[in-house]
Amino acid sequence: MIEESSLRNARALIRSGTEKLSSVSNVPRLEAEVLLSNLLEISPIKFHTNEINVSPTVLDKFEAMIESRFKGVPVAYLVGKKEFWSLEFDVNPSVLVPRPETELLIENAIGILGNHESPKILELGTGSGVISIVLSKELRDPIITAVDISNEALMIAKDNARKHEIKDIKFMESDWFDEIENEKFDLIISNPPYVDKAKLSNEELFGIDMEPDVALYSTNNGTDDLKTIIKNSTSYIKNRGWLLLEHGYDQAKYCMKKMEKAGYKKVENCKDIQNISRTTFGMFQHD
Ligand code: GLN
Repeated sequence: MIEESSLRNARALIRSGTEKLSSVSNVPRLEAEVLLSNLLEISPIKFHTNEINVSPTVLDKFEAMIESRFKGVPVAYLVGKKEFWSLEFDVNPSVLVPRPETELLIENAIGILGNHESPKILELGTGSGVISIVLSKELRDPIITAVDISNEALMIAKDNARKHEIKDIKFMESDWFDEIENEKFDLIISNPPYVDKAKLSNEELFGIDMEPDVALYSTNNGTDDLKTIIKNSTSYIKNRGWLLLEHGYDQAKYCMKKMEKAGYKKVENCKDIQNISRTTFGMFQHD
């Protein structure tokens, strides 16, 4: 009896959730608080300022969420959303959970296009749509086409565009450039699949194995999709237009070499917040 009533107290629930998640997460308390505050639709601050008791239904749901998280399901899938560029985006298991390092790609794009009026942009593999939606907010009247091979992903991307009141991104189902006709862009941007699945340890696979393979993995040390994009991009880039790619920690040299071979000039890498070479970009000049 006593135990049951104390378990319904929010702080006690968070304590038990934190304990359970401590073997699978570096931030178990934060995750337990995020999960419970999401169920209760309150700010996590309230757990510290108010005495909160939860109903048996919420208790059951919370315990089920903690169990799923314990098995590796990312918090973002459990709450159905993720923050990126200080904005909230919907996510589900048909899209990659947006990563903080991808904000670097946005910073690079803003640096490259600056005040360019109405730049034409193609995003390859848009997933939840975060890159195109943020660019649409940050740039001057960009004209954006965003493609993905997954129709389920495009549905989430369109929902996110609606949520942020972005009406002018053209979303298309396409395997990289396959459905793009005779168009040329000022910027082609992509965070493609670049992970070599064989190189991941069981520990590294934990959680990531709940995300779509098609968004994460590529063959040949993770480079095959980067290669396809670099090779075909030159037919879709305006004179003095740019290609901007996110890639793995050990793929900067590969991307530089391939881009230079394809005819890109001013090819550069950029490091992410963890000091890992994470993006490569260059300008294409037609002869
Ligand atoms: N950065 C992601 C990771 O390492 C991978 C994203 C991607 O393949 N595009 O988990």
